[in-house]
Amino acid sequence: MDPFIPAQPRMQLGRVNKTMSKSESGDTGTAPSNFIRTIIEKDIAADKHQGRVLTRFPPEPNGYLHIGHAKSICLNFGVAADYNGLCNLRFDDTNPEKESVEYMDAIKADVEWLGFKWAEQRHASDYFQQLYDYAVQLVQAGKAYVDSSSAEEMREMRGSLTEPGVESPYRNRSPEENLRLLEGMKNGDFEEGEHVLRAKIDMASGNINMRDPTLYRIRKTHHFRTGDAWNIYPMYDYTHCLSDSIEGITHSLCTLEFEDHRPLYDWVLDTLQTPCHPQQIEFARLSLEYTVLSKRKLIQLVEQQFVSGWDDPRMPTITGLRRRGYTPAAIRDFCDRIGITKNDAWIEMAVLETCVRDDLNATSERRLAVLDPIKLVVTDMAESETLNLDFSNHPQRPELGTRQMLFSREIYIDRDDFSENPPPKYQRLIPGGEVRLRGCYVIKCEKVIKDDQGKVIELHCSHDPATLGKKPEGRKVKGVIHWVSAEHSVEAEVRLYEPLFTQPNPAASENFEEVINPDSLQVLVNSRVEASLANSEPEARYQFERTGYFVVDRVDSKPGRPVFNRTVTLRDTWSK
Ligand code: ATP
Ligand code: MG
Repeated sequence: MDPFIPAQPRMQLGRVNKTMSKSESGDTGTAPSNFIRTIIEKDIAADKHQGRVLTRFPPEPNGYLHIGHAKSICLNFGVAADYNGLCNLRFDDTNPEKESVEYMDAIKADVEWLGFKWAEQRHASDYFQQLYDYAVQLVQAGKAYVDSSSAEEMREMRGSLTEPGVESPYRNRSPEENLRLLEGMKNGDFEEGEHVLRAKIDMASGNINMRDPTLYRIRKTHHFRTGDAWNIYPMYDYTHCLSDSIEGITHSLCTLEFEDHRPLYDWVLDTLQTPCHPQQIEFARLSLEYTVLSKRKLIQLVEQQFVSGWDDPRMPTITGLRRRGYTPAAIRDFCDRIGITKNDAWIEMAVLETCVRDDLNATSERRLAVLDPIKLVVTDMAESETLNLDFSNHPQRPELGTRQMLFSREIYIDRDDFSENPPPKYQRLIPGGEVRLRGCYVIKCEKVIKDDQGKVIELHCSHDPATLGKKPEGRKVKGVIHWVSAEHSVEAEVRLYEPLFTQPNPAASENFEEVINPDSLQVLVNSRVEASLANSEPEARYQFERTGYFVVDRVDSKPGRPVFNRTVTLRDTWSK
């Protein structure tokens, strides 16, 4: 057992239910059933909420979305769509220190890119006045009080899992005094930390969340939407249930760590007797091996410059996966395949990669690219001679057509496809050996040219003119290698990615230095790609034959000087 992986089940490739893949079957119908769908179907049958379904995706705009958020997005938008319902996008913006318009805009772009449309864009901050009015009601009903204890004192009075808490000396202030103090807090009469507003529930509750939780704290911080209008900001647990209720949400889907908060969710709505009382339902969050899925950790990766930014193709962010070449369909398929359960499980990175590989195999056109070129001269061809060859864009999809590629006397092949000391079963080019050039002649290596250091710099070959589209006479040539014409290809930059971390659960380490993979990015600046790729559109995706799936980098690629990111290798490399 790996010491870094907590004892949780893991989803492995072999255990993925392949029948769940929508993109493979072309099915656009409903996702596989799960316990949440069962609850919703029951509620619809019982005419609860008049049979309506309204969900919400509630990100805090304090960072970029990651693949874990995609699970929540696919679930919330997915069930809404499947039951003729709607889904709101709600920004949970109650921590002004950490939130910004930049993050909000990035989140919207990511949700749209994933292919979802929200019914309404809302903000918890839209409800600040309503939330305050509700707080006044709680105070008037004797259900909330202003506590003037210090944070330290409150921590001490909270008790522990085994000991009950102690009631604050301020707990029995009169509603009038509480109201006066709450207004003072709101008006900025007090400093941060002087008072908080707390619910008056039960300091002896077995559930620590019910021990008079804080509802409001003083923060004299500028809010990116409400400016300086507020000196107090509501806490998450208080804000969330009321925002759900105000919007008329029917099913409030959240991750398992909120299970112990559900009694508080229900207490607030029951105590205030709000007209709408949504049902909170918890599901397991996504944990993915060899990466981190927490905005706090992702911010560290960006700030400590382990990556180039939020959209670095090694990041598990939606924008990083996008720049890496992932498709929205592949990410949605991944969310379907892993399913929704109540049990935390680790998912292997291979599961995510399989989803994008399957999608790109079906959708991307084939091209020839030589990542680490060596020059090869077909010495028995005339210098001016060229051959115009037809290549199919996709072996299984003739409707994607063909393209032409020029073959000439000087070409490039990949350094990997030549060996002076070949390992057993090597079927590529060796000194004196024959190999077929993809879609072209069989050639034979006649001479190997090296530089002073003994590095191979050029290969001289002969060709068999009778082998164009035909098998060679009297011998078998098994190997086929790809190539590009030296003159009729363009130089490209190619970025090869490996996992960012060396450990399956990097978050368990205090220090990223210990678990970061120093070789997670390899940049090849002299790769050669066929001429048809010279002016590729940003985000165009291709299979480079025999090499992998690549995307045109949406930031750095320029006409005439394309930059490609490797999305994924052709075959699973995790099993090694
Ligand atoms: P983080 O720890 O990364 O900041 P968060 O839960 O605080 O995550 P929010 O912006 O509050 O981030 O999350 C918005 C929604 O996405 C919530 O409903 C949350 O439960 C869900 N979510 C976040 N991370 C995951 C995950 N790993 N798997 C599934 N859902 C997630
Ligand atoms: Mg959060």
